[in-house]
Amino acid sequence: MSSTTARSRPTAIGSKPRLLLIGAGHAHLHLLHQSSLLSRFDVTLVDPGAFWYSGLASGVLAGDHSPATDRIDPATLCLGRGVALVRARLCGLNTDVRQALLSNGTSLAFDRLGLNLGSAPVLRSSDDEASGDSAASLPGDKQTHWQIKPIPHLVRLRRSLERRFQRRQSVSVEILGAGASGVEIACAIEALGRHHQLAAGALTIRLRHRGSGPLPEAPARARRYLLAALERRGILVVDSHHDRHLPASDIVDATGLGPPRGLEKFGLPTIDGRGIAIDPSLKVQGTDGVFASGDCAALIDHPLPRLGVHGVRQGPVLARNLIASLDPQTSLTSYRPPARALSIVNLGHGEALALYGNAWWGGRLASRLKRHLDLSFMQRTRSLR
Ligand SMILES: Cc1cc2nc3c(=O)[nH]c(=O)nc-3n(C[C@H](O)[C@H](O)[C@H](O)COP(=O)(O)OP(=O)(O)OC[C@H]3O[C@@H](n4cnc5c(N)ncnc54)[C@H](O)[C@@H]3O)c2cc1C
Repeated sequence: MSSTTARSRPTAIGSKPRLLLIGAGHAHLHLLHQSSLLSRFDVTLVDPGAFWYSGLASGVLAGDHSPATDRIDPATLCLGRGVALVRARLCGLNTDVRQALLSNGTSLAFDRLGLNLGSAPVLRSSDDEASGDSAASLPGDKQTHWQIKPIPHLVRLRRSLERRFQRRQSVSVEILGAGASGVEIACAIEALGRHHQLAAGALTIRLRHRGSGPLPEAPARARRYLLAALERRGILVVDSHHDRHLPASDIVDATGLGPPRGLEKFGLPTIDGRGIAIDPSLKVQGTDGVFASGDCAALIDHPLPRLGVHGVRQGPVLARNLIASLDPQTSLTSYRPPARALSIVNLGHGEALALYGNAWWGGRLASRLKRHLDLSFMQRTRSLR
C-alpha cells in the first residue's frame, strides 16, 4: 500500500491510467483481487472506514460472532498490491476535468472512476410517524433510536443492550419494518437476551409491520413457518394500523434502504429513490469512464432489491469493463441480474428460513448453509492479501 496522501496530478506520458475507486463495497473489493486489472491501472481506493458484511450482521448482534469477524480493513487488502488507500469520503466530483474532491480537503485526478458507495436508511417522514410507525418512551426513560446501516450501528446496539442486560434493567424494543432485516434483528435481539439468561418479562420485542405481516413477499407456508418461529421466541408481531404508540426504550428503524444521502451533489444522473443511473455495462449514463455498482447504482429499466449479492456479481463485470474501456475497439459486457437469488433469513438459535423464488425451507440445515456461505465469503475476501 502506498501512503494515505492524496494526489492531484495529470497522467504522465507513458504512465498507467489512473483508476479511482470510491467506496470499499463488494464490487470494489473484488477488483483488488484482479491482477490483470491492477497491472493496467494506477489504482487508488478511497473509503473512510472498513468493509462490514451484512450477511453476518445479525449474528454479531445476537452475540454469535465478534464484530471483528464481520469486518475487513481495506488497508490489509491494498497492502502489497500496489493500491493506494486514502481514508476519506468523496464530497464533490467534476467529471469534466476528472477530479474528485475529498473530505480531507484534497482532490484526486482520475482517468477511470468507480463508485461503490452502498446505501443508507430511508429518512422517515412525519407521515410515517402519523401512521403509527413510532412508539412512546417508557415513563422516566429516554428512548434510543437505532439505524441498521452502516452495520457498526448494530454493534453499538448490541453493546448498549448488553450493558442493560448485565444491570438487569428491563428493555423493550420496537422494530419498525418486518422485512428480512427487521425479522433478523428481532430474532438476534431475542437470542442476545437469551444468552444473558434474562428473567421472564425483562425483554419485550415488538416487530411492527404495516398490515401485510412479516416477509410479505415470501410464500404463504414459509410465512406461517416464520410466524410460528417468532411466536416461539416471544416476539410480538404488531400492525401499525391497530397498535399505536406502545412504550419502548429502543426503536430500531428497519423500514428500508435508499440511495446514499447527498448523492445529488456529485452532479451525476440519478433515478429518484433508486440511485446513480447506470446502463447494463455499469457505466454511469451519459459519462465516459465513470462506473457505479452495488446499492448506490440503479440499472435503468431494471429496479433491483438492495442486496449485497448484486454487488458481488457485478464485481467481475466491472473488472472486465474497466479493462475493456481502455480499448475503444472492445465492447463492454452487460450485467445480467439473476431472475431469483437465494436469501437466508437468520432466526437465531441455529435456525434460519431459506427462500429461493417460490421454494423455501426452514430449520437447522438452512442456518448451517447460511453460516457456511457467509464465513466462506469473508474468508475468500480476506485471503486477497
Ligand atoms: C441488517 C442487514 C442485513 C442484510 N443482510 C443481507 C444478506 O443477508 N444478503 C444480502 O445480499 N444483502 C443483505 N443486506 C443488504 C446489504 O447490506 C447491502 O445490499 C450491501 O451492503 C450493499 O453492498 P455495496 O457493495 O453496494 O456497498 P457496501 O458494502 O455498503 O459498501 C459501501 C462502502 O462505501 C463507503 N462509502 C460510502 N459513502 C462514501 C463516500 N462518500 N466516500 C467514500 N466511501 C464511501 C462505505 O464506507 C462502505 O465501505 C442486509 C442489510 C442489512 C441492513
